Amino acid sequence: MLRVQKNKNLTGLNICLVTLKISKKVAGVEYAIRDIVSAATKLEKQGKKIQYLNIGDPVLYGFQPPDNVKNALINAIKNGENYYAPSEGLPELRNVIAKKEHNKGLTVSQDDILVTTGVSEGLDMVMSSIVEEGDEVLLPGPYYPPYASYIRLHGGIPVEFAVDLDNSTPDIDDIRSKITSKTIAICLISPNNPTGVVFNEKALRDLVDVANENNLYIICDEIYDQIVFDEKFVGIGKVASDSPVILLNGFSKVNLMTGWRLGYIAFNNSSKLEEIRESLPKLARVRICSNLPIQHAAIESLKGPQDYIPKFVSELKKRRDLVVKRLNSMPGISCSNPKGAFYVFPKIEKSKFASDRDFVMGLLNSKGVLAVHGSGFGTKYGSGHFRLVFLPDLNILDSTLDKIEDFVSQ
Ligand code: PLP
Repeated sequence: MLRVQKNKNLTGLNICLVTLKISKKVAGVEYAIRDIVSAATKLEKQGKKIQYLNIGDPVLYGFQPPDNVKNALINAIKNGENYYAPSEGLPELRNVIAKKEHNKGLTVSQDDILVTTGVSEGLDMVMSSIVEEGDEVLLPGPYYPPYASYIRLHGGIPVEFAVDLDNSTPDIDDIRSKITSKTIAICLISPNNPTGVVFNEKALRDLVDVANENNLYIICDEIYDQIVFDEKFVGIGKVASDSPVILLNGFSKVNLMTGWRLGYIAFNNSSKLEEIRESLPKLARVRICSNLPIQHAAIESLKGPQDYIPKFVSELKKRRDLVVKRLNSMPGISCSNPKGAFYVFPKIEKSKFASDRDFVMGLLNSKGVLAVHGSGFGTKYGSGHFRLVFLPDLNILDSTLDKIEDFVSQ
C-alpha cells in the first residue's frame, strides 16, 4: 500500500514524487567497515590506486582454504548435495562442531548447535530473539559494529563498557555502574575486533560472575578463537559452568572461508536458556537453512588436517610485529599490541584533524590508504583511533606504513 502522509488529493503527476515510507528501525544500522568504501571507490574511478586495509578478509589477501576443504565443496556439489538442508544444520556438522566446542570447555552436544549463514546471521537471530524496545545490551568498548546495529534494529540500546587495551582486562566496576533494570545481556568478543584484546581466564570469570549476579544473557563471539599470538586462548566454556552462555562462532576467519558464509550458535547447558532454545530454531526454520554444500566443506575443515591454521597464524604474527613496531615509532601515534585476530587499533595522540573520521579521509585522499575510523566501532571508546588490518604481505605492509608515516609526519 502507498503510504501518503501529507497530501491526500494527489494527482497522477505528484504521486510520482511521493517517497515510499521505510521503517524507522533501520536508521541505527551502520557498518563503518564497508560504509567507508564508497569514498575509496570514487577515487579509484578517478584513476587513483587504493591500498585497502579496511576489511578483515584473509582470503582477499592471498590466504586460501586448503585443497581438501575446497575439494569437499566441489564433491558435495558433484554428488548432488544441492538441496535444502535441515534448518538446524547437517547432523554430522553439528556433531563435529559440538566436539570442537566441548574440547574448548563448553557443555554442548549436537542438539545444542544451530548452523547459520555466518556469525552475522547468528547474531541477527540472537538479537531478534531477546531485544525489545528500550532494552540495554552491554558491549565491550570498542566493539564490532553489527552488534550495535542489530541491537538498535530491534529498538534496543547498546551500552559500551571500558576495556583496558594494554592489559586486556574488562573494567568490572564500569560494567557494574552501567547495569540498570533494562540491561538484558552482555556481549563478549574475544579475540576482539577491532582491538585484538583476548580475555584471560580471570577476566572471563569476572565477566561471567557479574553477568550471573545480574541475571544477564552472556553472548560470546569466538570467531577468532585460534588466531592468538602470545598466550594460549581460553574460551568462555572454561569458566561458563551452567551460566546462560550463547556462543557465536564460524568458519570465516580461522578456516579461511569468508565468502562461503557459514557459522553457528551454540547454547550452553543452562536452565536459563530453555525458552530461547525453544524459540530460536523458529527463526532458523523460517529462513529455511544455510548453504548445504558449504556444510560438507565445513565438516572437512574440522575433521581434516589442521596444520594450515598455525602456519596462517605464524604468518600473521610476523605482520603484527612489523605493524605495531612501525606505528609506535610514528609521531602522534601509539598502538597497543593486539594479542589475537588481525587488526591494529592505533590511537591518534596528536593530529591536525578534528576527528578520527577526518583523519581517515585525509589518509585516503592524500595517500590512497583506506583505514576505518575508530568511532565506527563505538563513539565512546573508539573515537580518536583508526583500524587497520595487517593481512597483506610484509612488503605491502611496509610500503603502506611508509605512506602512513609520511601522512602523520606532514
Ligand atoms: N564477529 C566478529 C567479531 C567479526 O570480526 C566478524 C567479521 O569481521 C564477524 C563476526 C562476521 O562473521 P561471519 O563472516 O561469520 O558472518
